[in-house]
Amino acid sequence: MRLLITNIALLCNAEGPASLISRRSGAEMSVMPCMPDAWLLAENGIIHSFGSMAGLPEVHADVVIDGTGRLVLPAWVDSHTHLVFAAPRDGEFVDRIKGLSYEEIARRGGGILNSARRLNAMDESELYDQSLARLDAVMATGTGAIEIKSGYGLCLEGELKMLRVIRRLKENAAIPIKSSFLAAHAYPVEYKENKEGYLNLIIDKMLPQVAGEGLADYMDVFCEEGFFGVPETERLLEAGAKYGLRPKIHANQLYHSGGVQVGVRQNAVSVDHLECVGDAEVAALTGSSTMPTLLPGAAFFLGMHYQPARKIIDAGLPVCLATDYNPGSCPSGNVPLLLTLACTQLKMSPEEAINAVTINGAAALELEKELGTIKVGKRANLILTKPLASPSLAYLPYDYGNNNIERLIC
Ligand SMILES: [Zn+2]
Repeated sequence: MRLLITNIALLCNAEGPASLISRRSGAEMSVMPCMPDAWLLAENGIIHSFGSMAGLPEVHADVVIDGTGRLVLPAWVDSHTHLVFAAPRDGEFVDRIKGLSYEEIARRGGGILNSARRLNAMDESELYDQSLARLDAVMATGTGAIEIKSGYGLCLEGELKMLRVIRRLKENAAIPIKSSFLAAHAYPVEYKENKEGYLNLIIDKMLPQVAGEGLADYMDVFCEEGFFGVPETERLLEAGAKYGLRPKIHANQLYHSGGVQVGVRQNAVSVDHLECVGDAEVAALTGSSTMPTLLPGAAFFLGMHYQPARKIIDAGLPVCLATDYNPGSCPSGNVPLLLTLACTQLKMSPEEAINAVTINGAAALELEKELGTIKVGKRANLILTKPLASPSLAYLPYDYGNNNIERLIC
């Protein structure tokens, strides 16, 4: 099947054949090669060629799309989500409006434990149907690859149920999906006084089965004071590494808890959240391959302070952005809204924000060779916008709240 898009107002993040970009860091994050008035040809889902309309060769195509007034971009890579969950938590949303903190709600049995109760009560096929509907919805706003975590089971059966649902999504969805094993999301109620018992359950019972069935690509831990401390995180990550699972961890959301440093020490693909990042965390990340991933949607929804994106970028590091789509702290998987938050609250430029959720998102899922930029030989995993009032990169984060994505091509 050959798909030709002509008259594209702006072809964004398009690389030449000699480019060897695998991520963009520091000042490079402002670089985004764009081609005005362009065409692109995809063959059997792979980018075959592209160029300026003035040089459009005679090509046979099965489908031709007129891109007049539209942008074509590499699809968003959302590298951190909890898209598989059983029920919304709008009741807690109201509790927070009335003044309860996220930690207070968690201590009362809300938060993650609330999601775990609901998840364990739901059968696998219903969980799959709900999750597939959410996946379809985020694809409609341009998400072309996604990571999904377990972590609402908090027991062997529940964690396996979540990971099997993710596996079914992988098998049936048109986009790449990666899965992370996050049994260390919170201590379940029955292990509140026996934390060692829960760690042993994860390491001795869950991990062998999860790895044996090939259900996870990554090992995740919620490394935070009041959840899993640095020594516990280190132990869990070392246990995961024995099964070949690289870490992708939750770090430094609430405190300067040492999560970034333990992630770097354990060769994490990414350390995610990073509301609390100072000089020590920047120093730890410098020279490492660990991707700093920021989740401003959660900071926005919880009314917390935002991640210091400028500090990280100005230190020469890369920044990745992801939604953290989950029922408690960020019930939205909408990447265009994430771009607006990155620009207005984190003071990232539109180029930086779009690099953060395309090529750097791909790097955070080890998919940078096939996704994240428009390059001959990469997957034709593309966003086609609607005709825009101003066909510029900046228009997407500027025109917030309006859906400017016409379709995902994948
Ligand atoms: Zn998360």
